[in-house]
Amino acid sequence: MSFEDIPVPIGPVYEGERIRAKQMYVELGGPKMEKHFELCRVKSAKDIKDGQITIHGPDLKDMEEGSTHPIGILVEVAGPELEVDLEAVFERRIHEFCNFVNGIMHLNQRYTNWLRISKTAVEKGFNSFQLLGTVLIRLYKAELPIIEQAQVTFYTNEKEVEKPYEMAIGIYDKRDERARTIHDDDVDMFYGCVLCQSFAPTHACCITPDRTSLCGSINWFDARAAAKVDPKGPLFEIPPGDCLNELAGEYTGINEMIKKRSLGEIDRIYLFSGMEFPHTSCGCFEAIDFYIPEVNGHGIVDRNYGDVAINGLPFTAMANQTGGGKQMPGFNGISIQYIVSPKYQQYDGGIETIVWMNKGVKDRVGEFLPKDLLPKIATEEEVIDINALKQWLQDVNHPIVETWAEALAEEEEEEEEWEAEGAMVPMGTVGMTIPGVGGTGGFRVILKNCKIHAEAIIIKKIEPKRKKK
Ligand code: SF4
Repeated sequence: MSFEDIPVPIGPVYEGERIRAKQMYVELGGPKMEKHFELCRVKSAKDIKDGQITIHGPDLKDMEEGSTHPIGILVEVAGPELEVDLEAVFERRIHEFCNFVNGIMHLNQRYTNWLRISKTAVEKGFNSFQLLGTVLIRLYKAELPIIEQAQVTFYTNEKEVEKPYEMAIGIYDKRDERARTIHDDDVDMFYGCVLCQSFAPTHACCITPDRTSLCGSINWFDARAAAKVDPKGPLFEIPPGDCLNELAGEYTGINEMIKKRSLGEIDRIYLFSGMEFPHTSCGCFEAIDFYIPEVNGHGIVDRNYGDVAINGLPFTAMANQTGGGKQMPGFNGISIQYIVSPKYQQYDGGIETIVWMNKGVKDRVGEFLPKDLLPKIATEEEVIDINALKQWLQDVNHPIVETWAEALAEEEEEEEEWEAEGAMVPMGTVGMTIPGVGGTGGFRVILKNCKIHAEAIIIKKIEPKRKKK
């Protein structure tokens, strides 16, 4: 496969390239755009014009430098061995193949896709979607030889993207609906995915019927189909082995897999906990489940939410904490689909621990949550700080309130134990109270048994954005 006719280098070495706002020529999709998508469809050979690239809307060269545009990418493929179950997995490769291009940064998936094209790439002549389409088609056919024919269509303005966007949303919904029909107990094989290791080398997704991949784009059916046609590829089988802890979702097979795939960094995963041995997170998660210690509950914020969450942090700040292939108790990257799983973080207390969600998430999952719990979960429309949240939870009699007395007793017991063990407070170390941070009216920071070397610590209060009247 040659890319000699493409004016920028192409290859896996460019995956992980970051393009900052100052370096970008244009931005496509992303959080500033309402409607954008990427989709792959399996078609019959007669419906494909192999190699055809179509652009509906302005081409790259017609876009003003520094501008942002909608983007729809529709990849249609054909081949005698292809089946519809492979669509989602092929679709996820759009992320990988776009990132092979030196000068393109591609993030996320489905309707949250986000691309930046660098000024340098455009200066070198990468100034048309025809070129990107050519790269995609060649890579699809070379990397996935069961694809014999492919065509790509780009939609680059609001009017053109509208209709195919609605079609794509309908297809994502159908895939999610099907995924909700089976559960872990119905199957004897789980699957793994390491497509995101170029960004997070110690991360591997475990995909089970009850825990869809955290990017939300690969469910158990999709993973099964991909592992079947390409067993040596990035998606693979995980024999579950022995179940060590049913509530936590701990399996010998998953532990062995993560140890091997993280090169020994991580050796234990609880599939259904965000607090103990949580599943690793790369950077593609659709949402973050975060612990809110002040109310002993959990919040969920998705990447489309532009304001600060109830804990005073925006999604981006929490994403830095959550991602990168680490296990970060209290911050767990999740898919939206996982929220409606009956096993959702069941080791931590399950769905009844959820006290806050941004409204966008609540609107998407509301119909699948317990009817009596739904009105007790606050959004940004009801409360914007933790003091108000506490009051709200009491007013609506949220089940989490019943846990407060026990949680307080445990915390006091832990502090007493620590003090009884003769903990020493070095000179110059004090308990700090930082008024007003996160809207909580102040909190204590207790540093136990740690050494910190830093030139400076900067703590800023992040104000919620108020809507202009
Ligand atoms: S988030 Fe997980 S399932 Fe999705 S592409 Fe990355 S590794 Fe694969």
